[in-house]
Amino acid sequence: MNSERPRETGDLAGDPAGTGFLPADTFQDQVSVVTGGGTGLGLEISRGLAALGADVTILSRDPDHHGALLAEAGERGWRVTAKALDVREAQDVTRVANEIVAEKGKVDLLVNNAAGNFVCPSERLSFNAWRAVLGIVLDGTFYCSREFGRAMIAGDGGQIFNIVATYAWTGMPGVVHSASAKAGVLAMTKTLAAEWARHRIRVNAIAPGPFHSEGASGNLWPDEEWAERLRKGIPLQRFATAREIAAHSLYLCSPLCSWVTGECLVADGGGSLPTPWWTAGERVKRG
Ligand code: NAP
Repeated sequence: MNSERPRETGDLAGDPAGTGFLPADTFQDQVSVVTGGGTGLGLEISRGLAALGADVTILSRDPDHHGALLAEAGERGWRVTAKALDVREAQDVTRVANEIVAEKGKVDLLVNNAAGNFVCPSERLSFNAWRAVLGIVLDGTFYCSREFGRAMIAGDGGQIFNIVATYAWTGMPGVVHSASAKAGVLAMTKTLAAEWARHRIRVNAIAPGPFHSEGASGNLWPDEEWAERLRKGIPLQRFATAREIAAHSLYLCSPLCSWVTGECLVADGGGSLPTPWWTAGERVKRG
């Protein structure tokens, strides 16, 4: 076993997630849509899908976020398209979904990854901020699931993959907006899995622990002191990398998990497990 401690940050020069262990044609010709696919985890999932044969469309608000993947796709011969979309805008989601289905003829996989988050005491959270996070995470996931789900129902089925967080069921002080939205997405995962199984649509999720990304590092642990406090609560004693979480995600989306639906994989280095109240080597005193 390699005892070297993995680095917590990825770099774009590295091999795309999943390419080391999944066959090169795992997602061959699968029309895949990734919201927030230009940065962080969404970028790593998109790179992995494209490298494994998928025809990928990334959707997010800022076209500047699309440039890195489009450039890499050009160099490597991957099929990647990008469209500007704010997933909070229902009519725009419908329009863009219709465009993609018209252009590609079908949709096989939707990854609901777009999100926004920041730490704020609940008593100080503005209604606008609450609405913004719920809008992206909960509304956006439903708008995209409904529109791309309709195309899957009309076609040969497909799958939807959602990114949640362990605080969807544990709760987390300071992120009531995100925790509430992710809890809703977890319920949506199970509900749609049960409802759309008859249309041959699988719906699963992953609940990652902390990994570095522009959004997370800037808003959730703005300096190394905060990061270290967070790291101390993780039994595996490090953050994940976005590429690592992407690899777990691609495994769940691959045919290796064809019988799995309505599930959520916890990938958090043990961070949501109970912490021991004793330390190794300590004698338990009796009597
Ligand atoms: P990130 O790099 O900040 O990614 C967020 C993405 O969402 C960006 O690409 C952003 O692109 C897009 N986005 C935001 N608002 C949008 C909107 N209204 N419409 C469309 N796209 C929008 O963050 P990340 O850390 O990789 O997060 C990826 C996922 O992992 C999220 O679901 C997050 O909740 C989850 N997660 C992260 C962690 C962590 O520690 N990092 C832990 C647990 C779960 P634009 O700005 O171009 O719109």
